[in-house]
Amino acid sequence: MGDKRDLLENILERPLLVSSDRDVAICSIVSKGRGLTINGYVKSESNPNALYPVEVTYLPAGKQIMFGNCQCESYRYYGDPCKHILKLRNVYVKNEKKLYTQDKGTTV
Ligand SMILES: [Zn+2]
Repeated sequence: MGDKRDLLENILERPLLVSSDRDVAICSIVSKGRGLTINGYVKSESNPNALYPVEVTYLPAGKQIMFGNCQCESYRYYGDPCKHILKLRNVYVKNEKKLYTQDKGTTV
């Protein structure tokens, strides 16, 4: 019953950010050249008990996805950026400022 809500809290890494709908958690952001590699988890829509580890390398300058990886069946079967990859990117873009403020706070 409380499973749905607690799903993201079972992640071992402490997420940097959890989306307001609690469907997406961002765990790490690493900059590589001009791109950013974002790692996190996205909840499955078809199976509320599934959480997919998702990685996306995003180019902020061109608002482009350079690389994506997800454990869902759709991605493994078709190899195209699936909705989870897009969702992780969207949550990052939406919270970009917030994440950078947090980042500065910890590195300085
Ligand atoms: Zn996926």
